[in-house]
Amino acid sequence: MDRFGRQATDMRLSVTDKCNLRCTYCMPAEGLQWLSKQAVMTAGEIVRIVGIGVERLGVRELRLTGGEPLVRPDLAAIIAALREHHPDLPISMTTNGVGLDRKAQALKETGLTRINVSLDSLHEETFTRLTRRPFLSKVLAGVEAARAVGLGPLKINAVLMRGINDHEAAGLLAWALEHGFELRFIEQMPLDADHGWTRRAMITADEIHGLLSQEFCLRPDPRARDGAPAARFQVRRRDPARGEATGPVLGTAGIIASVTEPFCSDCRRTRITAEGKIMSCLFSREEFDLLGLLREGADDDELAVRWQDAMWVKPRAHGMDHGGLGAADFIQPDRSMSAIGG
Ligand code: SAM
Ligand code: SF4
Repeated sequence: MDRFGRQATDMRLSVTDKCNLRCTYCMPAEGLQWLSKQAVMTAGEIVRIVGIGVERLGVRELRLTGGEPLVRPDLAAIIAALREHHPDLPISMTTNGVGLDRKAQALKETGLTRINVSLDSLHEETFTRLTRRPFLSKVLAGVEAARAVGLGPLKINAVLMRGINDHEAAGLLAWALEHGFELRFIEQMPLDADHGWTRRAMITADEIHGLLSQEFCLRPDPRARDGAPAARFQVRRRDPARGEATGPVLGTAGIIASVTEPFCSDCRRTRITAEGKIMSCLFSREEFDLLGLLREGADDDELAVRWQDAMWVKPRAHGMDHGGLGAADFIQPDRSMSAIGG
């Protein structure tokens, strides 16, 4: 619980800061200074920390992230141990999908509930330009494997970059609908290690809506949003001649307006970085070293109290956007998205 009455029931835990892609909105071309193996939480430490969150602090949902979680060799063992301790906990994972084709079956068997795959382009050249790696076919194979083993409902996350992949918005949606995936567009946030983000260059939720509306009709999904970051829409084809919706509802799409319409007042997240630091918000400038305390021998009671204290001071809002005018008092955090665990 924080000062503003929000309850953090949704835990994001990063299992590694390393990654095999170099998405321009996240990492620099040369990568980052990776954490040493000793600095990163062990499988046992992850299980203990998750246990405190779930059993003492009311966490009801866990998402594993990174860096790229699939690069961690003991990922399946971590999930198996978490599942053994928490038979009913929804455990999902956000991944770039590289290598997922070989691992999907084992992850499903160990108890992973579902998966989000990040995919920003369906064109080899654009994908490679955006991620600085020629791995589109690997990601597509991973997506297909996840679907085949039942790691669904599959969500696809896409970030649009002006002049790079923004022309692909409707094409990505058509592809996702055809395969039965829920596509969610995320506004690009100032969490790139290169500090190259500008408010003017980012593609806003309104623009995304406009790009999709050239080919589709989007109607707000009547189901309650219930703290979810994405505004969801029911999607139908647009009749090009009449400009109206035609045919059946094809599926759902989401737009996550993290910058222009932040959902901070409804945020339910608590984040643990790969080196066991608590971040109450993606944009926190304060972190609490939970793993350090654990390694000093603190018991679960003390760890739980310190975690509660760290969440109590969660900022009211990130202050990134001021009506589109820029963000006078916003300071970009030192950590990039990959080093936080997005
Ligand atoms: N490597 C995994 C992946 O890409 O799915 C998990 C970690 S990644 C940091 C998690 C999500 O954060 C991805 O969907 C990615 O697109 C998103 N992301 C990274 N940097 C971002 C930024 N600057 N703005 C918005 N989303 C970002
Ligand atoms: Fe890696 Fe994910 Fe960041 Fe891309 S968004 S560089 S895949 S951590």
